[in-house]
Amino acid sequence: MTQGFDPIEVRSRIDAYCAKKGALAVGVADVQILERMSPAGHGPRALMPKVRSVISIGVGGGTAGAWTANAKTLAYVGDTETLAYKIAFGLAFYIESAFGYRAVFCPPDIDPEQGARVPMQSMKLHAEVAGIGARSMAGDILLHPEFGMLYYSSVFTEMPLASDGPMAENPCPHPSCVELYRKQGRTPCQKFCPAGCLSGTIDADGRTEESCFEADKCAEMSQQYEAIPGILMETLKAKDPLDQAMALYGPESQAIWYKLSIGAGELLALCFECMRVCPIAQQAPLSNPLKRGLARRKAAEASTEDRGE
Ligand code: SF4
Ligand code: SF4
Repeated sequence: MTQGFDPIEVRSRIDAYCAKKGALAVGVADVQILERMSPAGHGPRALMPKVRSVISIGVGGGTAGAWTANAKTLAYVGDTETLAYKIAFGLAFYIESAFGYRAVFCPPDIDPEQGARVPMQSMKLHAEVAGIGARSMAGDILLHPEFGMLYYSSVFTEMPLASDGPMAENPCPHPSCVELYRKQGRTPCQKFCPAGCLSGTIDADGRTEESCFEADKCAEMSQQYEAIPGILMETLKAKDPLDQAMALYGPESQAIWYKLSIGAGELLALCFECMRVCPIAQQAPLSNPLKRGLARRKAAEASTEDRGE
């Protein structure tokens, strides 16, 4: 532990580190709240017994151009979560070397004892409690009013930091979604999800009343690692060598073997169609690099004018 520890200065150095590496949002989640909200064995202390702070990091989604691409392309290029993991991994090392407190990169992985749908920790819960995302009607994907859809990662540390609160207002459902819901009974994400896995209701005040996400349908569409046992089963059941070869080497199977061999993230990703039509993911003021670049250039011009240059 470093002498003269100043949590405010430390926090601003953490924010600066993450921003320099490409993060858009950083928040600190209250460990007690996470412990209360997490299922047994999945609270932060299950991973790091003396954890004092859970730092959540958010990075932006794909480029504006990626969102204009067809579904096949977007499935390959839409997901940017690797950057979030890289920043968190580096931040854990930075905290230990700069501030002298133990820190660990929180694995965004499944619990090896509990199958493919149970994560060790919920990055979404960390981000929500840290106030850098709010649950949407699109399968609880977190949305940020300024940055739209973010990807999240977390770092646990024994360093004491003041925690941030959750967002005061949930930007979802967007007013235009409420309008569509009143007219057609469905929000855009519900209407355009190709697997029909989203449903829910909006109350008279335009807030989410109920939200339902049928994860198995989404997984079938977008989490292709779940398709692998199906391919193997088809192969075992095949009655002749031709059927067996088709099960193993048919185009869809080949695509999965290819993605597996190159470690492609889209084995696990979204199909993105719910976010392609989401007004917050698409229209938030800083939701893509095009908008963020424009805002940066405008701010630089304004500051030049202020200095009378
Ligand atoms: S990722 Fe695709 S399948 Fe899953 S909820 Fe969104 S639109 Fe539906
Ligand atoms: S489209 Fe986006 S803002 Fe609208 S209800 Fe769905 S998740 Fe919420």
